[in-house]
Amino acid sequence: MEYITLNTGAKMPLEGFGVFQIPDAAQCEEVVYNAIKSGYRLLDTAAAYANEEAVGKGVARAIADRLTTREELFITTKVWVSDMTSEDAAYEAVKTSLGRLAMDYVDLILLHQPMGDYFAAYRGITRAYREGLTKAIGVANFYPAILANLCETVEVTPAVNQVELHPFFTQEAALENMKAYGVVPQAWGPLAEGKHGIFTDSEFTEIGDKYGKSAAQVALRWNVQRGVSIIPKSVHVERMEQNIDIWDFALTDEEMAKVAAKDLGHSEIVNHDDPEFVKFVLNLH
Ligand code: NDP
Repeated sequence: MEYITLNTGAKMPLEGFGVFQIPDAAQCEEVVYNAIKSGYRLLDTAAAYANEEAVGKGVARAIADRLTTREELFITTKVWVSDMTSEDAAYEAVKTSLGRLAMDYVDLILLHQPMGDYFAAYRGITRAYREGLTKAIGVANFYPAILANLCETVEVTPAVNQVELHPFFTQEAALENMKAYGVVPQAWGPLAEGKHGIFTDSEFTEIGDKYGKSAAQVALRWNVQRGVSIIPKSVHVERMEQNIDIWDFALTDEEMAKVAAKDLGHSEIVNHDDPEFVKFVLNLH
């Protein structure tokens, strides 16, 4: 495992584990426990995933069983748009998340979407940061112009921007923009949520064969090797173990270019430029 230093000075594991779409509490608790057992030290949840309580329980059980310590773990959660209405609402949302996680602090709080009153909400999470409720603050899905506007305006630059990043949506320009502001890019959907035949892609499989790795491992390795933090999700132990077993090989420059050549230049999961998507999200609650 490699670590990346955030603008706070804290170290974040380059690879973590995401828990989106694991709504069943008992399953989520077990998955989190197994992820920690498999070696993951960064866990990525969100108020919107409705599983913070289960994540907290899985973590507590892993600590009780001495698999890890709280200090070793890096816990991320996110404020949902329904709480991005004012500074106070976002600040209170952080406290509510901590209550559900049964934790005194988290390591990173993100604004989940650049929607609602995100400047007020950012002030709310900044207050939570200053009070030590979170060790760092950041954003998700803040595309270049929006991120630039935020970074140019706020007192505390976001430590992380979590956006969709995988071989079929490489977003090189967005990465350059984040780099310019010292914001660490973190990939959601690093396995493209299974789209584009990523697990059976013949070129990824061929590259992987050389190293005794799967197509999934090649896709994940490519992202970390270009400095992007990844948080793949799987409810299956064999897959979680496979996804974290990417630290003993390196792709050549030619292989890196081959993977990047898959870029479609747009997402086939979600389009943040689509007003209908914004309206859909704002009306979810
Ligand atoms: P991923 O790209 O991680 O893909 C997950 C899918 O791939 C699941 O269907 C999983 O199935 C399958 N899978 C995982 N590993 C393997 C493997 N080795 N072989 C075959 N299939 C595999 O998608 P996510 O959307 O889950 O993204 C990761 C995390 O990013 C989320 O869990 C969440 O924490 C975060 N996220 C953040 C967003 C944001 O807006 N900020 C948006 C979306 C995600 P199975 O579980 O059945 O094994």
